[in-house]
Amino acid sequence: MSMSFEFATATRIIFGEGAVKQVAPAARKWCSRVLMVTGHDPERTARLRAELDAAGAQCLPFAVEGEPTVDLIARGVQQAREERCEVVVAIGGGSVLDAGKAIAALLANPGEVLDYLEVVGKGNALQNPAAPFIAVPTTAGTGTEVTRNAVLAVPARKVKASLRSPFLLPRLAVVDPELTQGLPPAITARTGLDALTQLIEAYVSIRSNPVTDGFCVQGIPLAPRSLRRAFHQGNDAEARRDMSLAALFSGLALANAGLGVVHGFAAPLGGRFPAPHGAVCAAILPHGIEINLRALRARAPQSPALGRYQEVARMLTGRPEATAEDAIVWTREICRELEIPPLKTYGIGKQHVPELIAEAARASSMKGNPLVLTPDELGEVLELSIVGF
Ligand SMILES: [Zn+2]
Repeated sequence: MSMSFEFATATRIIFGEGAVKQVAPAARKWCSRVLMVTGHDPERTARLRAELDAAGAQCLPFAVEGEPTVDLIARGVQQAREERCEVVVAIGGGSVLDAGKAIAALLANPGEVLDYLEVVGKGNALQNPAAPFIAVPTTAGTGTEVTRNAVLAVPARKVKASLRSPFLLPRLAVVDPELTQGLPPAITARTGLDALTQLIEAYVSIRSNPVTDGFCVQGIPLAPRSLRRAFHQGNDAEARRDMSLAALFSGLALANAGLGVVHGFAAPLGGRFPAPHGAVCAAILPHGIEINLRALRARAPQSPALGRYQEVARMLTGRPEATAEDAIVWTREICRELEIPPLKTYGIGKQHVPELIAEAARASSMKGNPLVLTPDELGEVLELSIVGF
């Protein structure tokens, strides 16, 4: 059997406690006017702004409240142009980083966001590399600091869609676990379980390759080792470091190996319901594994994904004799312990199932799933996730 693959990531990645100090000198090398994309709480970024000032860079703040929409991106681009900013620094959670990525891309390209957006837009390819973009995550979850897409909401159509291009890969990713110290337990839980979901889905993906496998095998054991501790003891430096690393590895893997049924559902659900991405993924994860395993045993008993799920179960439980099905039990138990609510909490009900399974089947995130699930199987995954564990 022949093998060929490709691997692409951010130009440069700096990881470590205190790494955030390297953002200002790096930004200053590119220009003296920086658009600084942040979350709603500017206090969290005061230190970085002071460092940029001290380095001689003019810092123009741009706040992202909630999830980024196409209109918000247009406003960000306009502000960056008016203020003559040539570099974009984004410091925050996944939504803030995605907003920064999209603003940096549009700053260097003609036209508007919808010209380049997948599915609901024209889907044109970006013509020019994005403006220099520095991603500084303050949560440990999406891995978007090393991926090539930005998820944007189009409220008028009640959907989310991706801007996707190799030009979206950040010029610099600065992953400083200290920035995640003291994150509230609920955010720690859902972002950590998002990272774990991404690692598992990339590992069993039909598009996995030896490079992404390396990140998954290194990353998956970090969750059983440290996610509970990060949740219960939010200032445990070692646990925070492990989870920042797990999130980084999940981004490196998913951007090159793709994802599966859990993220296939997370895409349409995120567009229609006000549910946090990581919480949706966590609520679906045990059921996605369960139905995938049953379908693989019935229709593709030779699939290498079965052995991979067994490896996942061994890494999660630490037991060499674990079976693939033990991965269902382990993920269900951690969802209970970390208080992940079922999907019905967000107003998702049986009446939404037919539409959601049709959209999930078309979602680009579904493409790595180890086999094609039938509409009945997709419906089962969703119905189980609505009810709970
Ligand atoms: Zn995710």
